[in-house]
Amino acid sequence: MPLSLYDTLTREIRPLRPIDGETLRFYCCGPTVYGPAHIGNFRTFVMQDVFRRVVEAGGTATRHVRNLTDVDDKTIRQSQEEGRSLSEFTDAWTKRFHKDCAALGILPPHVEPSAVAHLPEQIDLISQLIEKGHAYRTEDGSVYFDVRSFPDYGRLSRLAEREITTGAVDREQADEYDRASAADFALWKAARPEDGPNRWPSPWGEGRPGWHIECSAMSMKHLGESFDLHSGGIDLVFPHHENEIAQSEAATGKTFAHHWLHVAHLTVEGHKMSKSLGNLYTLADLAERGHTPMELRYVLISGCYRQPLNFTFDSLAAARKALARLADWQRRLGGAPEFLLPGEDDFGPFGPVHEALCSDLNTPEAIGRLHSIGKQVVATAEAGQLPSAELENARHGLALVLQTLGLVLPSSDGPGSLASREAPAWVNALAAERQEARSNRDWALADQLRDQIRDAGWLVLDASDGFTLEPAKVGNPT
Ligand code: AMP
Ligand code: ZN
Repeated sequence: MPLSLYDTLTREIRPLRPIDGETLRFYCCGPTVYGPAHIGNFRTFVMQDVFRRVVEAGGTATRHVRNLTDVDDKTIRQSQEEGRSLSEFTDAWTKRFHKDCAALGILPPHVEPSAVAHLPEQIDLISQLIEKGHAYRTEDGSVYFDVRSFPDYGRLSRLAEREITTGAVDREQADEYDRASAADFALWKAARPEDGPNRWPSPWGEGRPGWHIECSAMSMKHLGESFDLHSGGIDLVFPHHENEIAQSEAATGKTFAHHWLHVAHLTVEGHKMSKSLGNLYTLADLAERGHTPMELRYVLISGCYRQPLNFTFDSLAAARKALARLADWQRRLGGAPEFLLPGEDDFGPFGPVHEALCSDLNTPEAIGRLHSIGKQVVATAEAGQLPSAELENARHGLALVLQTLGLVLPSSDGPGSLASREAPAWVNALAAERQEARSNRDWALADQLRDQIRDAGWLVLDASDGFTLEPAKVGNPT
C-alpha cells in the first residue's frame, strides 16, 4: 500500500513514490550539536524514523541523509564560552545524540554529513549563486542571497502573499531569525573577532558558512539536485527551508525537494518548551524519574504529527502500561517470530494498522487499532479458535507492526512488564486451590481452576512436590 503524505508546499495529501522508481531519497535537518537534544527535538526525529520505517515496510528502499550542524552561531558561541575547540565541543554532543537516538530506537541515517566537513561544497554553491546573479558580496567580505532575484521566494511559507509584494526587503546576518519577513540572508559570514579560530578561507576572505547553505550543499551532494522529500520541525519552514529552496533552485534551476514533511511542536504540560521555564527535558531527565526511552517514544508517536502534542508525565505512565500490555499479548501469542523479513508487506490481521500509517502517518489511529485488534486476536487465539497458520500470521503481523512503529517491548523480565516469569500471587493461589481440589479428587473443580489459570495466561504443571507455573503459549497443550 503506497504512503500518502501531507506536503507543506502544496498543502495537499499526495502519494509518495520514489522519483527514480526505486529508492526514496530523503533529507532530515539534523541536530545542532551544542547541547543535549530535548524531548521536543526527539518528537521530530522519532516521527522521521516512523516515516522511514513505514516506507521500508511497504517494500521501498530508502536513502536517508540527516546532517549534523556543527558550525553556526550557537555552536561557536557556546564552545567559545567553554574554552573548547569547536570540534572537541561538537564531537562530544554528537556522541550523546547518537546514544540517545539508539535508546529511542531511531535508525541511524545512511549518511550523516557534517557541515564543517562540507566546506568546499558550500563554497562552490555560493560561487555558482554569485555567478548567476543571485548573491552579492558586501564590503566586509560576507555574501548574501538576493531574495528579489528568486521570484518564487516565500512559496513554502506563503510569505510572498504577505511580504515580498510590499517590497520590504532588508538584510539578516543571524542564522535564525523570527521575523516573518523577507530578508537577504547570509550565505557566507566574514570572520568576526568573537568567532575566534573558527574561520576558513574562501574566495571572499576568511569566514564561515551561514546555516542555510549547509543543508542545501549537503543534501544535494548526497541525494542529487532533486530528491524525494525534505523534513524538519515546523519551526524550520521559515526561514530555513524557504532559504534552502531559494539557494538550491536558483543554482540548479530544478525542483529541490518534491515533498515537504514538517512535524508540529511538542509542548510540556501545556507550555511551550523553553530554557526559562525549565521544561527542556532530556532523556537523562526522564531516566532520573524512572522512565525509559521507549515510554517516551510511545508518547511521541501517540499524537498526529501535524498537530501540536502536549507531553505530560501522566502520559509516560500510561505508555508504560500500554507497552506492558503489548508485551503480554506478544508472549501469549507465542513470542516474536524468529525471522522477520524487512520490507515484507504481510501484516496479517494487523493490516488495518499499516493502512492507518500509510494514511498520512496516522500514528494515533494506528495505535488505537493495534490495541483493539491485538485484544481480539489474543482472545480468539486463547479460545483455541485460531488455526495454527493464522496464529503464525498474527505473530508475524504483530512483530511487523511493532517494528514499523519502532517499539521495542519490555522483556519478560524487564521493568514495567506484566509478563514476568513469576506468576502473580493470585494465580499461585488458584493453583494451590486446584492442588487441594485434586487431593480431594474433585476433578471438576480442578479442571475449572486449571481453565481459569490458563485464561490468566499461565500453565499449571503437576510436579512431584506440588505444581509449577509457566507462561502459557497459545497452542501449548493444556
Ligand atoms: P535543532 O537541534 O534546534 O536544530 O532542532 C532539531 C530538530 O528539532 C529540528 O527539526 C527542529 O525543528 C525540531 N524541534 C525543535 N523544537 C521542537 C519541539 N518543541 N517539538 C518538535 N520538534 C522540535
Ligand atoms: Zn537544515
